[in-house]
Amino acid sequence: MKKEIQTNIENRITEFPVCEYAFVRPEEIPFSEKVRYICQTECPRYGKSWACPPAVGSVEECRKRCLSYDGGFIFTTVSEGADLENMDAVLSLRSGHERITRQTAEIFRDYFAQVQAFSTESCAICDTCTCPDSPCRHPEYMLPSVEGQGILVTELAERQGITFLNGSDVVTWFSLILYRMEKTE
Ligand code: SF4
Repeated sequence: MKKEIQTNIENRITEFPVCEYAFVRPEEIPFSEKVRYICQTECPRYGKSWACPPAVGSVEECRKRCLSYDGGFIFTTVSEGADLENMDAVLSLRSGHERITRQTAEIFRDYFAQVQAFSTESCAICDTCTCPDSPCRHPEYMLPSVEGQGILVTELAERQGITFLNGSDVVTWFSLILYRMEKTE
């Protein structure tokens, strides 16, 4: 990425309440079948969302797709005052992060021809997901789950010096933007 583009993106990102961020190379993103195993055995959304496995493909397919991009951008936002014991209450706080993820993806679209954004947890746009019976209602708006790709999110964040534990009543939300093909004008 040209230095000028990176600077422009960084300047624009600072307008959002982004906590920490880093530019990463796709080959630096760690994938693991263990993450998929956890999705499969512990997550009630497995098989019930187009944003999650198995609809997103195998971990190897996700890894290859990721490697087809030129670069990645990871960032966090935080929600304070959360009751971490209450998962429904925690998940209700993430709409702000999803909005920032979409806005950040739009910034990258100003500079790159192809951009894919991933956000934290499963998609919650519709009250009831159509998966697996009929196609996604909002494929252009839906954000696939980062974890659902098989990405070791905490390891990726740690390697980039991004903090995940920001306090006992703080939820840290994580997103990944992949981009390819710089626009020429
Ligand atoms: S937009 Fe609706 S149909 Fe598509 S993944 Fe999200 S909840 Fe499911």
